[in-house]
Amino acid sequence: MAYYSIQNIPLTDLAKEFGTPLYVYDADKIREKISVLRAAFEGIDLTIKYAAKANTNLSILRLMRENGVDMDVVSPQELEIGLIAGYEGSNITFTPSGVHFSEIEYAVSKGAIVNLDNLSVLEKFGQTYGSSQPCLIRIKPHVFGGGNEKIMTAHPESKFGISIHQKAEILSIVEQYNINVIGLHQHTGSDIKDGKTFEQAASALFDFAYDFKDLQIIDLGGGFKVPYSPEDPGVNMLEVGQIMSNAFRAFCQKYGRELRLWVEPGKFLVSESGTFLAETNVVKRDPVKTFVGINSGLNHLIRPMMYGSYHYIFNASNQDSSKQEDYRVTGYICETDTFSFDFNGKQNERLLNKVKEGDIIALANAGAYGFTMASHYNSRFLPAEVLVDGGKARVIRRRETLEDILRNQE
Ligand SMILES: *Cc1c(COP(=O)(O)O)cnc(C)c1O
Repeated sequence: MAYYSIQNIPLTDLAKEFGTPLYVYDADKIREKISVLRAAFEGIDLTIKYAAKANTNLSILRLMRENGVDMDVVSPQELEIGLIAGYEGSNITFTPSGVHFSEIEYAVSKGAIVNLDNLSVLEKFGQTYGSSQPCLIRIKPHVFGGGNEKIMTAHPESKFGISIHQKAEILSIVEQYNINVIGLHQHTGSDIKDGKTFEQAASALFDFAYDFKDLQIIDLGGGFKVPYSPEDPGVNMLEVGQIMSNAFRAFCQKYGRELRLWVEPGKFLVSESGTFLAETNVVKRDPVKTFVGINSGLNHLIRPMMYGSYHYIFNASNQDSSKQEDYRVTGYICETDTFSFDFNGKQNERLLNKVKEGDIIALANAGAYGFTMASHYNSRFLPAEVLVDGGKARVIRRRETLEDILRNQE
């Protein structure tokens, strides 16, 4: 886990130079994660489809593209941003949920491959394109996997995917319109750490796949857990990769053909690359608790408040661990915007090196679902973003001004 500096640049220097609140990303960390993923699936015809909703900054997307990573998008706007970042439509997969059919038509018109997750949409796709456009079908394998209920996507009650129990209906629509189904897809959820869950979901999809004769691709989604604290090992990617590779090889053999394997990690590729920096506005010594109030809130990093997510927090301005105190780290928004949640999804206190007003507080694992979930709530500006690459830091999203907030208003 990167601590007080990124590529030898102290976090406090970055805060001073670029101001706070600030997202900083380490390009080397992203490259490292891409290599780990490739190594985990060595010998397999693997394509990495970065789940761009985790972080859609253009510079991050360009970095992905330069490293041979394709994109998985969930909206026409993400698709458009991908094209601007230099991707070809054919390198982009559109995996929407519950969108209007016109968005699917738009994606097809840009050359993207779509992933269909609803019987009525599959039927419309057949009526519109017949066999002329390839597609993937997203299956809901009825598997429980993921860090918590809110981030599970393949259990029986999930809205995502077509139920694995509706195979007959799927096959009948595919036959009726001669739909060109080139792949099957499933994405189980987020923060999955054990190989067993991936294996279980994959094997459900494999069992399902034998009736589809023209497959070229199996897409096993993302959801690989990352380490959230110095003690947290995260997923053992090499082990999970091996489990999934073996299951995939066995499937291909039985299917009678070598297929391509796609995975769609978001968090795994970018979470650890990001650190969020904010400044301590106030230290509030209350009879019950001591609060550290930073110049940010759920408007900039909502994961703790939305999912009870754990972010490792430290005082970037004070490396002296001989004097630590328990602090509840909160924001400046007029809501309860506690940043310090424990691993059970409860607000708690963190032992931090003694904090004084003006200190820079850093939150780790801020590269995924951080900036992309930020809002203008309380009419405050979005954070700026900085990428550190080759030992140099550069702004990849400027700080906003009031004009940005007023734009489009009457
Ligand atoms: C969000 C999403 C992912 C990525 O999930 P992570 O937990 O960030 O790896 C992958 N596939 C689909 C379809 C998604 O919606």
